[in-house]
Amino acid sequence: MRRKLAAGNWKMNGTRAALAEIGAMREAASGAAEVLICPPATLVAQAVGNDAGVVIGGQDCHANASGAHTGDISAEMLKDAGATYVILGHSERRQDHDEHDDLVRDKARAAWEAGLSVVLCVGESLAQRDAQNTLDIIGGQLAGSIPDGATGHNLVVAYEPIWAIGTGKVPTTDQIGEVHDFMRSRLERRFGAGVGRSVRLLYGGSVKPSNAAEIFAVSNVDGALVGGASLKASDFVPIIDALNDSAD
Ligand code: PEP
Repeated sequence: MRRKLAAGNWKMNGTRAALAEIGAMREAASGAAEVLICPPATLVAQAVGNDAGVVIGGQDCHANASGAHTGDISAEMLKDAGATYVILGHSERRQDHDEHDDLVRDKARAAWEAGLSVVLCVGESLAQRDAQNTLDIIGGQLAGSIPDGATGHNLVVAYEPIWAIGTGKVPTTDQIGEVHDFMRSRLERRFGAGVGRSVRLLYGGSVKPSNAAEIFAVSNVDGALVGGASLKASDFVPIIDALNDSAD
């Protein structure tokens, strides 16, 4: 059984005042689904201390364990601050920081060495979807970004079509199901049925309280990676509740 996961990516949003939002998720976070918030690095340690039953993650880490990398943060530092997860390969990092699959794979190795679980993001652009290349792109990103040694504990994969992030546009449930079934079969083929079936697959891209339940009903969708709607408990709690209901 894969435990459902509601993951929030706060991106570059939030100062200490925002920590109250995590506290307000306490009751929803006591349900069947695991609840993860990835705040800016400045808030990780305090978010961990919040004790709301919400697990905390980083949004990126360096591929090296330490060294002369001004402004970067290592997986060990996140772990030391109390994080248990790190998001890697988000399309905003792939675009803004020119991150490619081999760098994402090296970062994932570093995260695993530090004892963090990785939420690894893949997703196609609108041009790639229009050219009917979606599955090739996703297959290539999975092959290139995930190191050997994946398990159901150290890896979560998030399918995030770039054109759906922050746009209010959402793929049809058939389109989501097609990609999630494809990712499941690729993971089973590479890592064996046991591991392949145990890795959780999240959908991400404009998930809101109004569309969460129908997305969570799609085959091989084990939860969501949520950006904008994870910033306020009033938006994220109904999404967590929908996921808890889907686990019944
Ligand atoms: C994201 O950035 O991971 C994301 C899914 O954003 P949003 O929910 O705002 O589309």
